[in-house]
Amino acid sequence: MSETTQQKPERRLSTPVQFVKGVGPQRAELLERLNLRTASDLLFYFPRDYRDASQLVRISQLREHETASVFGVVEEVDLRNTGPGRCMLGALIRQENEYLRAVWFNQPWVQHRLAVGAGVLLVGEPRFSGGRWELVHPRLETVDDDETPTAGRILPIYSLTEGLNQSQMRRMVQGVLDDYRESLVEVFPAEYLAQHDLLPIREALQHIHAPEDPQRLAQARRRFIYQELFVLQLALALRRQVLSLRCNAPPLPLSAKIDARIRRLFPFSLTEDQNRAIEEITADLARTTPMNRLLHGDVGSGKTVVAEYAMLLAVAHGFQAAMMAPTEMLARQHARTLARDLGESRVRIVVLTGGLSAPERRQAEEAIASGQVDLIVGTHALLGDQLSFRRLGLVVIDEQHRFGVRQRAALRRADLDPHYLVMTATPIPRTVSMTMFGDLDLSTLRDKPPGRATLHTYLGDETRREAWWDFFRRKLREGRQGYVVAPLVEASESSGVASAEQLLSTLARGPLKDFRLGLVHGRVSPAEREAVMTSFREGTTQVLVATSVIEVGIDVPNATLMTIEGGDRFGLAQLHQLRGRISRGVHPGYLCVFAAADSEEARQRLAAFERSNDGFELADIDFQLRGPGDLFGTRQHGLPPLRIADLNRDERVLEEARRDAQQLVASHPQLHETEFRQLHRMATHRYGRALDLADVG
Ligand code: ADP
Ligand code: MG
Repeated sequence: MSETTQQKPERRLSTPVQFVKGVGPQRAELLERLNLRTASDLLFYFPRDYRDASQLVRISQLREHETASVFGVVEEVDLRNTGPGRCMLGALIRQENEYLRAVWFNQPWVQHRLAVGAGVLLVGEPRFSGGRWELVHPRLETVDDDETPTAGRILPIYSLTEGLNQSQMRRMVQGVLDDYRESLVEVFPAEYLAQHDLLPIREALQHIHAPEDPQRLAQARRRFIYQELFVLQLALALRRQVLSLRCNAPPLPLSAKIDARIRRLFPFSLTEDQNRAIEEITADLARTTPMNRLLHGDVGSGKTVVAEYAMLLAVAHGFQAAMMAPTEMLARQHARTLARDLGESRVRIVVLTGGLSAPERRQAEEAIASGQVDLIVGTHALLGDQLSFRRLGLVVIDEQHRFGVRQRAALRRADLDPHYLVMTATPIPRTVSMTMFGDLDLSTLRDKPPGRATLHTYLGDETRREAWWDFFRRKLREGRQGYVVAPLVEASESSGVASAEQLLSTLARGPLKDFRLGLVHGRVSPAEREAVMTSFREGTTQVLVATSVIEVGIDVPNATLMTIEGGDRFGLAQLHQLRGRISRGVHPGYLCVFAAADSEEARQRLAAFERSNDGFELADIDFQLRGPGDLFGTRQHGLPPLRIADLNRDERVLEEARRDAQQLVASHPQLHETEFRQLHRMATHRYGRALDLADVG
């Protein structure tokens, strides 16, 4: 590989892995499965975990229940059947003349990692049993002779693919470190590193793959976590900068006359928080820089009214306003609310969803293009390419977390930048809003409209079921309506969890046989669903049996009862959204959740749900219990996933990186011409597509 040494450093780093020392064509194929194609990919393939062999303990020094790392050699392995489908795997581990036993129950596959004579590193909680130390289900690492852990190392653990083991991976990474580290270019200026307590890149890479001690490892991780969050925050700051430089939005100034005309439409006076949000929004709308604002508020806090105000302001100036909802049901609900409030006024509304027939759709599209309609309410269908707006001034997006960041950009047209208002009813933990919505200004509704009746939440158990249905029936006879929610549409054999369809038939024969029931879930056709909803809204249907499709957008103030089955199957935010359906009127709401809380996490989640009715607090609890994974994953927002940072764990670094990135963009408007140009390039390269930064630098 003599010619590579003459190449430019960046070129060397893009050498295919196949040519990296210790890799070769066969392993390169395995690495390809891990998306590792170049020397640089391998260099930046961070360990997913570590085994601390720097604190190795001798067997004779073990202490009962104190987690310890032990290195030894496998002497014997035995696997015994202990019953149908059960087994016990034991291994005798020798450390010079001392012995210890490792045991695994019902994990026969572990034996393939226990070759007699091989060195292993075990980490676990020892107990003294039958005259000998024993480790039950220890974490296990195989260690090669040349990696003698007595040298006091911390071993990196990589995510692997079949056909590769840890020591092979470690050796390849070490090879690439040895040969390519010097080609790495530092992206932060030296002074910046010193000021922000960051390790230089070469040192950081060395210590993330082969740390000398826990302190060095922590420093190395800090460097990469900071860098990852900084690059993301830089991209968000650049997006804000781009947006603030645009000046192609229609100015929509507010006058006292318009204000009075809009307020007259609402049958109530607005809350203090609603008024503050409206002030912030109208200040934005008056400018030619497009508004990019997130309206953040708990279920029932009155966001829709605020959005309606903004939309009517646009219409007052002769512009169209579009509202995009995540589901057809929610879009129709919004359209109905608007139609009701607008009553006799001359504002014209059209609904555009995937459920329209082709001629209906064409008609709607024509009305939008010719300017015959002022307010357009729809779903994703609004994003269609053919759709052209006559004079689009404002876009409201409801339930933003279901849309990607990128889709916000999709409605923009070359001639005119509409203003954007994004609403979310899912309270978002702070760290997530700083990231996913880091490019937006924030308005928050914390207080709720007055006159709301109280909401009672109970955790039910089977002994209380009869009493609960008694109560439920009594309230129905008093004229109230209710929901029964199940986690599944249809029964699945394995789960043992009630499905909506099953529930409907058992309820219709049992506890609710004297009442009129309806069924709605994701597989009910739009037309049928609309019929069921209308019947429920009108009070003909008394109880709606449903899945979580009713989570958002249903506004039937007379529905005050809810039974949730399989409550452990729902996330906290989702439970809270569901609960929002029965606190919309003057009558108190009653909710009983039945759940099989087998895990500690589910128990805590349900306890928090019973205790608190504050969506913001619940969002933070949920986030701590579950981590960002499913609900707030970056992927769901159309951003590439984070590789080393964790929004929950790394909150402090996130704040630091965010502040630093914002300051940097503010103080260096031409960032791509400064010594930070590499970071600028990384930000636009990684996030440019998702954040629509194509026209930057
Ligand atoms: P969100 O969208 O935040 O869940 P909505 O805007 O749908 O909340 O409002 C919930 C309910 O409260 C609606 O029935 C709405 O008409 C009513 N509402 C909104 N603002 C007020 C207010 N200031 N006073 C009384 N009722 C209000
Ligand atoms: Mg709403």
